[in-house]
Amino acid sequence: MNNIEYDKRHLWHPYTSATHPLPCYEVKGASGVELTLADNSVLIDGMSSWWAAIHGYNHPHINAAAKNQIDAFSHVMFGGITHEPAIKLTKQLLAMVPEGLNRVFLADSGSVSVEVAIKMALQYYACQGQPNKHKIITPRNGYHGDTFAAMSVCDPINGMHSLFKNVLAEQIFAPAPQTRFEQTWNEDDIAPLEELIATHHNELAALILEPIVQGAGGMRMYHPMYLKRARQLCDEYNILLIADEIATGFGRTGKLFACEHAGISPDIICLGKALTGGYMTMAATICTEDVAMGICQSAPGVFMHGPTYMANPLACAVASASLDLIASGEWQSQVANIEQWLHQYMTPCKNRC
Ligand SMILES: *Cc1c(COP(=O)(O)O)cnc(C)c1O
Repeated sequence: MNNIEYDKRHLWHPYTSATHPLPCYEVKGASGVELTLADNSVLIDGMSSWWAAIHGYNHPHINAAAKNQIDAFSHVMFGGITHEPAIKLTKQLLAMVPEGLNRVFLADSGSVSVEVAIKMALQYYACQGQPNKHKIITPRNGYHGDTFAAMSVCDPINGMHSLFKNVLAEQIFAPAPQTRFEQTWNEDDIAPLEELIATHHNELAALILEPIVQGAGGMRMYHPMYLKRARQLCDEYNILLIADEIATGFGRTGKLFACEHAGISPDIICLGKALTGGYMTMAATICTEDVAMGICQSAPGVFMHGPTYMANPLACAVASASLDLIASGEWQSQVANIEQWLHQYMTPCKNRC
């Protein structure tokens, strides 16, 4: 049995069927923007492995960081132990994320970082004696991951709500933002969210959204003023704002983080995907000091989450090397160039699909 046949019989791929598996290609190498297949043909990867490989494949600086860390140690538990790779990564992250974010939870995947963010929001209000504030509001068309709490805030139609309706937490859905990024802001666009928050704020712990780009939901780019208004509503009605920047973070939208387009800071941010430059799985949930203190001010007095591979040193070292490249590189002009190039060559295709 060749590899492809074996794969078809024994492996799950993302969102696929065991009875009708999709065709897939065997990759044997990757370098820069190129993937080399088993038959030696070379492809350009136009989606950088789900937007994660921001520096290209097989980057010498990240490779060296990974090799050095393997020779020192690949993993130790984070319970009662700390290490330089986690501390260095945290310093780098806190120097770049929006102002006010101060305490880092290193998680193992984007979905887990969303679980952690939602748990933080619920525990925050429970510890303030407001356990009634346990629901999440979110715009439709969103995507936040495949685990259960994350699924509950994904778009209720494109997501998996019908399949799991008896088990998913019931959340509150607002219409998706309509004013596009480049259009003139229309104040009516925020009215439905405002109305829902005004009605439900006593049961709401948080608003979760993907700032500026609803990624998996169709690459919908919306107006920064929506984000600004959302921040104001959260302040006005005492709700935490969770920015899921797993897809948009690390320069993807022309700013280091998409929240910068609106000049706002969330109470909790989720980072993932490009965090390790596309090398391995790792994510981060970063909250403000106010959220961290609020969570720990009453029983049980601790934040109840701790994955086995939390702050895996190898992943930390790789992420750190990726952030080095961001700090020293020319990503701003590179992103602008790519944008201009796409504009020029893709505009003629606009009416073809
Ligand atoms: C990919 C993604 C996630 C989930 O991350 P995983 O690492 O796949 O679990 C969550 N939110 C957004 C916005 C994403 O793009």
